[in-house]
Amino acid sequence: MDLRHYVRDIPDYPKKGITFYDITPILMDPEAFQYAVDQLAEKYKESGATKIVAADARGFIFGAPLALKMGISFVPIRKPGKLPYKNRCVTYDLEYGSDTLCMHVDAIGQDDKVLLIDDLLATGGTAEGMVKLVKEAGGIIVGAGFIIQLGFLDGDKVMKAAGVDHDFLLEIN
Ligand code: 5GP
Repeated sequence: MDLRHYVRDIPDYPKKGITFYDITPILMDPEAFQYAVDQLAEKYKESGATKIVAADARGFIFGAPLALKMGISFVPIRKPGKLPYKNRCVTYDLEYGSDTLCMHVDAIGQDDKVLLIDDLLATGGTAEGMVKLVKEAGGIIVGAGFIIQLGFLDGDKVMKAAGVDHDFLLEIN
């Protein structure tokens, strides 16, 4: 199955000059959605991961069914003020400014084996923030899986610099 057929290009969103890659057509087709989750499960079946950590909001869509399929825990990462229990947060630099991501303080324990999941790797800023947060909590990152990698941006380099082995189902150039 070619997932590219299920990714819709939206020009000038969220602002002029930017193309947004809309993954909702994948979700509209149960076969494509199942295929995406199955492919990730296949890639990571020998990873030894015990927890999936995924970013709000589209990371949840793929991370949660993957966690169920793999029979491991699911840990949500969200923006400040969204998680009800005690939070551990990191602030990380972006090209213009900074951003903050949080998770519950008891979500990741020392030496937990963590698989990071998100729908798309662009500049790598979000994934880098997730890496920082998991590492600060004592987790070991066994991999990072994405549905899409934008090959014309630096996410690939950022993941390599962070020492994280990453993979994806579809590259868009
Ligand atoms: P990065 O932090 O790598 O620049 O951007 C990746 C994050 O932003 C992911 O959490 C992803 O959900 C979101 N994102 C950025 N651009 C796009 C896009 O074109 N399509 C989708 N589906 N998500 C995007």
